[in-house]
This record gives sequence, C-alpha cells and structure tokens, in this order.
Amino acid sequence: MTVLEEILIAREERESLRRKISANGYAVISLNLNVPGYPKTGPVYKQFFDVCIRQLKNWLSANRLSIDLLNEVTLSHAAGDFYIVQIKSIGDGLLRLKEITEQFEQNHPLGRFIDVDVTDQNGIFCSSGKLKSCFFCQSFPAIDCARKQRHATEQLLAFQQDNIIFYLRELRIDRISHTVSSLAVRSLLYELTLTPKPGLVDREGNGVHTDMDLKLFIDSTSVISSWFAGLVKAGAGCSADGLPKALPIIRSIGLMMENDMFLQTHGINTQKGIIFLMGISLFCAGYVLKESEQFDPDFFANSIKIVCNKLVEDELSKPGDQLSHGELCYRKYKVGGVREEAELGFPSVFGHALPVLEAEKNTGSEALYKTLISLMGVVNDTNVLHRSDKATLERLQIMSRKVAADFTMEAYRDIIGFCRQKGISPGGSDDLLSITIFIFLLKNELLQ
Ligand SMILES: [Zn+2]
Repeated sequence: MTVLEEILIAREERESLRRKISANGYAVISLNLNVPGYPKTGPVYKQFFDVCIRQLKNWLSANRLSIDLLNEVTLSHAAGDFYIVQIKSIGDGLLRLKEITEQFEQNHPLGRFIDVDVTDQNGIFCSSGKLKSCFFCQSFPAIDCARKQRHATEQLLAFQQDNIIFYLRELRIDRISHTVSSLAVRSLLYELTLTPKPGLVDREGNGVHTDMDLKLFIDSTSVISSWFAGLVKAGAGCSADGLPKALPIIRSIGLMMENDMFLQTHGINTQKGIIFLMGISLFCAGYVLKESEQFDPDFFANSIKIVCNKLVEDELSKPGDQLSHGELCYRKYKVGGVREEAELGFPSVFGHALPVLEAEKNTGSEALYKTLISLMGVVNDTNVLHRSDKATLERLQIMSRKVAADFTMEAYRDIIGFCRQKGISPGGSDDLLSITIFIFLLKNELLQ
C-alpha cells in the first residue's frame, strides 16, 4: 500500500467515525493538525496536538459549551493525530459554535497549524466561508498554495516544526515560572506567619522592631512577588555560558524590586536581604528546570555558586564611600553575610537547615521552628551583629545549637526571651529559612 492510500484510508476512518457520532443526533467537533507531507505525526506533533486538545476543551468550557467527555475519541494514524467529540448542547446554535472555534484558531499563536471542524447532527460540515491563509507565506489562501505547490514540503515542515518546538518550549517555561514563583510566595508567607519567632515580626507582634509590623511585610511581599515569575523566566532564558555573567541581570531586577519595596513601605527596609537571596534562587531555579525535568538540588547549588563566584572579594573587600550593614560587618568582623552564603552555594541551608526540614517531612510550625533554630546555630547573622556584638552572636549560636539538638518549646521560648532582652533579631537566618522552605517545596511539591 502506498503512503497516499494509507492516508486516504485513515481519512475515511475519520469520516466514518464522524458519521457514527453524528448518528446520535448531536453536533460534532474535531481537531487535527494541518501537517504537509508525510509522516503526519511524530513526538513533537503529538505533544503539540495534546496541548491543543487541552486548550480547545478549556476554550469550549469558557464559552459554556459542554462536550461528551465519556465518548471522546483520539486517533493516531497515517493521516496524523485526530480528536473528535460530540457537543452535548450547542447553546446559541451551530453558527455560534463555528464562530467560537474560529476564535480559538485565530487567538492561538499557532492557530494556522490547527484545523477545528464543526459538523451538524447530519454530519454536514459547517463553514463560515472564509478561506484560511497559507501558514508559510501568509500571502495566499492555503488551498491555493497547496494546489500550485508554491512551497517545498521540506521547507514547510521545517518552518512548522521550528515554530511548534519554540512554542512548546515557551509554554513549558511559562508553566515553570508560574509554579516556581507560587512556591516562592508560599515560602515567604510560611516564614512571615510563623509565630512565635525570636526578635522578628510575626503574628503576635513586631519582635524588637519598632518601624515595621506584619501588615507592612504583607504589603512589601505583595509588591516584590510580582517580579518572581520574571526572574524565573530570565533564568530559563540563560545559557551555561551566560551563568557566570548573570549577576548584574538579577541585580537589575532586584533593584527595581527594592525600589518598589521602598515606595510601598515609605522607605523602610523590610526585605532587602530576601530580595537578593530569592532573586538568585528564582533565577537559578528557572535555569535548572529549563535544563532538566526534575529539580536537582546539587545542580541548583552549583548554579548559585557560579552566579555568585567571588562575590565577597568583589563587593566586600573593596573600600566604598557609603557602607551598607553587610559591608560594615565585613570590615569589623570579617563576616561575609548573605554574600558569602550565596558564594558558597548556601552551605547553611544545604548542610544544616534542609536536612532538618526534610527529616520533619512537613512545613508545620514545629518543623519550621527547628529549621530556623538550626540556621541560627551556624549563621554569622549580620543583622544580629549590627544590633549587638560578636560575643552576643556567639552566645545566641551556642544557645541555638543546644535547642536544635534537643528541641522543646520551652527552650525555644528561652531563645525568644534572649533576643528580646538583647534587642536582637536574626533576620539573616530568617531569610535563609525562607530559602530553605523554597528549596524544600521545589524538591517535594513542584507541579510540572
Ligand atoms: Zn503560501
């Protein structure tokens, strides 16, 4: 049998199926891809076809049209991939249904590769009479280019497949950026609402802070989180060669986030630290997930290291005019703070906090108290140093390590008491708690 004969038989199979479904007395809707030449299917086409079916069903549903989900049929044969289903109710009539499917094709970025056909209860095709333009040249009706063989089949196929591969990639990156940014928001909210916390703003009060409260954190979290998806997308668009040069790209977005934060909080620094840490984390999560299907924590940590290579030397060792808290602490105590943590690929998170949270297997309050305490035991927190001195930090670390080794709520409350008495707030450890939760969620709850 020749290829052409196989295609003709497959087409007849489709039409007999259509007649069979129409015999029930309902309108029928079908979808197939408009693939030139042969073969008319393959892994890329199949993947795109499945996406189109999902999108079409969503569009029909959005137009309040219901289809007979129990009797939908999908074929994959010589004529390509084919989907057919009966419409349970056609609402405002057949022409309106045709209009809705035409809108679907027109609104779809690759609508010219898709054919959605509508037939009435007698199996008669419903046509709006409009001729579709050729997907390649867009200058003539498609049927005209086909009859006159205006374009070589290889040329058409290459054009079509390139477009589909690009579209599927964009769709995947969109999906990744939505899910990853929602996990980042969740991790910030889990951290923010965790109560009680030592010295920090929580649901019970403002800790040792006089200029900020929970509402201010909600305000600034809402503002900065609107940038998260963009950071993931920037990471997904980064190549391996681009990674060592990515920091200014992340920083440029981070500076805009800071600007929005300060506008929203009227000049109060609520989340500058987390903007930096979450900024590089979101970027690297996008980079890692673009490269591999699963979230690989080692690959992620290595990417952070590459992005933040020599950060302490470049930014803290050189004298500047206006010194930030971090720079002052580095001068005075030789403590690298968040920059050092990032340069080394989050050793406090991967070496201490994440194993604690993973052992707990949940993100409930007690699991998060233990995770926070494990960080406070090892992190040289510049927020603590800024409000006290090296001896106080060391005392807090020793106390925290003891509580981490044998956790009780009473001992945890002692640490809260110590922070209140000393007027200190472990904001650096707290930011790393958010990052730990974020990585935990990426490992355990990432929807692909
Ligand atoms: Zn053409």
